[in-house]
Amino acid sequence: MAERGTCKSADCEKPVVGKGYCAPHYRKWKQGELPKARYKTCVEENCLGRQVARARCAKHAGIEIPVAAEAAAAPSA
Ligand SMILES: [Zn+2]
Ligand SMILES: [Zn+2]
Repeated sequence: MAERGTCKSADCEKPVVGKGYCAPHYRKWKQGELPKARYKTCVEENCLGRQVARARCAKHAGIEIPVAAEAAAAPSA
């Protein structure tokens, strides 16, 4: 069957093109504009960072990014 189902977005009956979404919704999904993104996004406005703690991205949660921290931190003791 060629039937691949319809978009899983609410009230959308368009044919699926990827990840269960139709073309326009799939594009939105990739841009992180849908509630069901690839991952939960930071609750801060206009931030699409991935949630790591307290519903916020590392930046907004105040968590140091290990890579940057390692590069900057020389052994001082
Ligand atoms: Zn759709
Ligand atoms: Zn954030």
